[in-house]
Order: sequence, then C-alpha cells, then structure tokens
Amino acid sequence: MRYISTRGQAPVLTFEQAMMTGLARDGGLYVPEAVPVFSAETFAAMAGLPYEEIAFRVMKPFIGETFTDAEFKGLLAKAYAGFGHAARAPLKQIAPNHFLLELFHGPTLAFKDFAMQIIGQMMQAALARSGERITIVGATSGDTGSAAIEAFRGLANVDVFILYPHGRVSEVQRRQMTTPVEANVHALAIDGSFDDAQARLKDMFNDFAFRDEVRLAGVNSINWARVLAQVVYYVSAAVNLGAPFRPVSFTVPTGNFGDIFAGYIARKMGLPIDRLVIATNQNDILDRALRSGAYETNGVKPSISPSMDIQVSSNFERALFDAYGRDGKAIAALMADLKAGGFRISQGALETLRATFASGRASEDETLATIRATLASSGELLCPHGAVGVKVAEENLGQAPMVTLATAHPAKFPDAVEQATGLRPALPPRMADLYTRPERVTRVPNDLGALMALVRERIAR
Ligand SMILES: *Cc1c(COP(=O)(O)O)cnc(C)c1O
Repeated sequence: MRYISTRGQAPVLTFEQAMMTGLARDGGLYVPEAVPVFSAETFAAMAGLPYEEIAFRVMKPFIGETFTDAEFKGLLAKAYAGFGHAARAPLKQIAPNHFLLELFHGPTLAFKDFAMQIIGQMMQAALARSGERITIVGATSGDTGSAAIEAFRGLANVDVFILYPHGRVSEVQRRQMTTPVEANVHALAIDGSFDDAQARLKDMFNDFAFRDEVRLAGVNSINWARVLAQVVYYVSAAVNLGAPFRPVSFTVPTGNFGDIFAGYIARKMGLPIDRLVIATNQNDILDRALRSGAYETNGVKPSISPSMDIQVSSNFERALFDAYGRDGKAIAALMADLKAGGFRISQGALETLRATFASGRASEDETLATIRATLASSGELLCPHGAVGVKVAEENLGQAPMVTLATAHPAKFPDAVEQATGLRPALPPRMADLYTRPERVTRVPNDLGALMALVRERIAR
C-alpha cells in the first residue's frame, strides 16, 4: 500500500516511511492511496476473536510487507499485554441500545495507548533493523504525551520530547509525563496553549534542515499509523454488536479529529456504521463548521475536558481531502486561509461531510450534569470527555445500537468527576503511587529557536 499527502506535493511513501515521517514535507498529512474494502464475510469472521487477532486482520492490508505476519503478531502481543483488561476495549451497556466502549484500560488510562503502544513496538522493530536513531517530538493536550512517553521510555534508539501547555493539563496527566526516570524522556511545559505547542511542532517539521539533522519523527495524530491502530476498536465493537448483519452508530468525543477519522476509515472499509457523531465541548469549531460551513477559529477556552480544548483539528484536513475529491491544491489553499483565521467549506464538500458526520456540543454544565445523571441511571462513572460524548449521543439515538467512546478513565480527571458527583475516583492499584513520585520537567518559552536549541543540546548528550 502507498501513502499520498493531502496537499499533493510530497513524495509518495510506503507504510514504514509514512510512520517514521509523520507530517508530509508539503505540510500535508499522509493517507492511503486507496482504502481496502472488506467483505461482509471477512467482518463476520472477526466476531468473538481476541482483540490482537482483529488488529492483525484489520491492519495487515495497510502495513503491507513492513513486517512478516509472525513478526507483526509478536508486536501486537507485546503492545497490548500491559492493558488492564483481557478484552482490551470492552463494551458496557449504560441504557437501552446505548453502550460505552471503554478505551481506558491501557497503561496511561486513555485511548491514546491503543495507538501509541503499537507504534512504539513498530518503530523500535524498524529502527533495530536499520540501526538508526530518531528524535520524537510531540505536542499534547495531555493524553498523547503521557501515552507517547509510556510507549517510548527507555527505548535504545529514540529520544522523546513532549510539549504540553503549562498549567493546562490535569495533575495525573502531568505526573504521567514528568515522573518517568529514563534519560531519553524529556517533558517540556510550554508557555502557551495546545494550539501553540502544535504550531511549534509543525514549525520544527517544516524546518527541513533541522528535521533531517535530528531525524525528527512525529507521533501526534497526524501520524497515519495512529489513525490506523484506532480503526481496530471500531471494528471489534461493531462485530461484537452484530455487524455486518446490522449497522452500529458511534459517538466520538473529538479534539484533533484523529479518533473519529479512524471511524470514518472503518466505514470506508465497509463496516456498516450508521451514524458517526462528532461530540465537542465548548470549543466547538467542528460542530459550528458542520452546521454553518464556516471553519473559523476564535481562541481556545480551557474546559473540564482539556484533551478536547483545540481549535485547529489537524486531522480534519484528511476528511476535507476526501470531501474535495482528493484535490491537494484545493486543500493547500484552504490551509493557507486557515492561517489567516478561517475558510468556508464549499457547498459540495459540506454536503459530503454532512452525509457522513453528525455533530453536537456539550457545555461545561451539561458535561457535569451528564456525569451525574449517568452515575444515577447506570452506576457508571464517566470522565468529562466520555460525558461530552454521552450527552451528544443521547441526542442522536436511533434504531442502530449507539456506541459512545469512553476515551479516558475517570481517575485521570478526578476534580471534574468529584465536582459533578461528590465521588473522587481512585487510580487503579497498578499506578497508585503516581502522586508521590518526584517530577522532572523543563519550562520552555513559545519560541521555535529556543525549542530547537534545547532539542539539539539534549540529544547530544
Ligand atoms: C485525545 C483525546 C480526545 C480527542 O481525541 P482526538 O483524536 O484528538 O479527536 C478525547 N478524549 C480524550 C480523553 C483524549 O485523550
């Protein structure tokens, strides 16, 4: 399988190259040249299989010959062995025809572990083969960073730098990034928002001399391999609820559009997904864009679901690329307009997007009320991100079973959960000492030159 850029001007790459590259050199994102379509029999045969086996069958056509079958199965086994639940992504019913997909049983208690753990394994295997060293730099609203650090800590051929917005991540998120003791882990607190961190990250990737000098690799959700790994749990959930013989709907708490874009890919592969619902918090640019056609940034308002406090949803570019008939020039023009504040989605593209995605938003009060109401009606304690999803899902229930993605464990956001319910969720026993481990972090300005100097200095050790 070959990978092309959404802006049409970067080299066509293999899976391994696209995984190691992250952002394309024309500023675009890599997507498969063609998405394979599975037959109904192929999906039906997956019902009841172990998660790792479903992952193998779903991901195999996309990774091509990158690894032998035996090697790839070994990497998947290692990636998911550290999860705290045998089903990896269990479904739990919370109301008639409404299910939670619990994606928080990984080592850092958020869905990011699903992709990061297997990417860590795949990158390590590829680097061991080539003998090369890479520098991973990631920007995080909290969960990507902890998942990346957990996946790459202590690996021989990798340094991992994570930029997070100072003071805008939860204490558990911060501690998961600042307490690992390995020398190849570098937690950086930037004076700015997540969008600032992501913009500086993109600037580093666009400085080709620096990019080549430090062998920069990205693990943000711009990395295609992450999207791919997330397609798996849409398939596992759907086949366990009766697909391909009946359609299933999904509601996805959305920030950078990576997770829901994985659902879109699952649908393109032939998985019968009825509704695919975007759920946003008060940072509702995606909901507004789908309603009005105007994609306009107006600043980030910090919320109790901080992993969704995003204005520029990187992966939305991938959806736009398809909606604009895969016209790279048109996408490059839209993204230039975005730098100046926004753009209007063409009528044709808007209709295409609306045919695929529904959307809704939850205010802060609605999020808290949903945590409270769901506890009362089902006994389930939601994290604020999952609660945004449940609120929007309830507005989109239909004939098909609705699956809301529970993207983080409530103990990752204990303040909001306690505010809503009076209950303070406890961390799982395997990480109970997190609050007492010493922290290690470097405060950095929102300045490209200073960041590049810091990376150079640290990897020269
Ligand atoms: C990252 C994250 C999201 C948003 O996911 P995207 O792929 O960026 O849309 C939602 N909830 C939690 C808990 C997250 O960590």
